[in-house]
Amino acid sequence: MSAAPYEELNLGGAVGDDPAAVLANRERAARALGLDPAQVVWMNQVHGRDVAVVDGPWGDVSEIPAVDAVVTTRRGLPLAVLTADCTPVLLADPVAGIAAAAHAGRPGLVAGVVPAVVEAMIGLGAEPSRIIARTGPAVCGRCYEVPSRMRAEVAESVPASWSETSWGTPAVDVTAGVHAQLEALGVQDRRASAVCTLESGDHFSYRRDRTTGRLAGYVWLD
Ligand SMILES: [Zn+2]
Repeated sequence: MSAAPYEELNLGGAVGDDPAAVLANRERAARALGLDPAQVVWMNQVHGRDVAVVDGPWGDVSEIPAVDAVVTTRRGLPLAVLTADCTPVLLADPVAGIAAAAHAGRPGLVAGVVPAVVEAMIGLGAEPSRIIARTGPAVCGRCYEVPSRMRAEVAESVPASWSETSWGTPAVDVTAGVHAQLEALGVQDRRASAVCTLESGDHFSYRRDRTTGRLAGYVWLD
C-alpha cells in the first residue's frame, strides 16, 4: 500500500511512511503468513543489546520498549524484526518451546545482541545445540563498504566480520559475524539467506536508497 519511496510493502513504522499504509501492509504480511496481525510483537530497535521477554503483543505503540531482541515461550506469538541492510536473526529451540528475534546491524554485532539473546533463551531453558538459527536478507560483505578504521574496530571484537568489497575496499560482513558468534555459543544449525539487500531490487536497502522502507523477519512457535 506504500507510495514511493517506500513502495510497496513497507513494514517499518518509523521511516516517514503513511501510518495507515504501514498498518495495511502489516495486516497483509501477517495474513499471508497465517498470523493474526494484532498478535505480532514489534520492537523499537535502537542498535543495542537489550532483550525483552514477551508473552503477548504490546498494548500500543508507546509501550514498545527500546530493545533489539525479543524472546518468548508463548506458542503462536509471532516476533518480528525490521531491517533494511541490517541482519535479521531468527532463533528457536523447538524442544524447549522458545523463539527469539534479534536485530543485528554493525553496532548491534559489536554490542553483542546475538550473545545476549542466546543467553536469554538459555535462561529460559534453551540448549544451544538444539537452537535453529536463520538470518535473513542483509547487505553482504562484498557491498558493505566502511572506513578502514571501522573495519578494524569491528573485527577486533568479531574477527569473522572482516571483509573486502568486490571493488577492493574495506568492508564489514555483519552476517558472517553473527554466524561466528552463534557458532561460538554452540549453535550449529545455522543458515543464512543468500540475498544481498543492496544488490536485490526486490528488497529495501538503506545504504542504496537512504529514505526507504523496511522488510520484516517473523518467527513463531507453532
Ligand atoms: Zn552485496
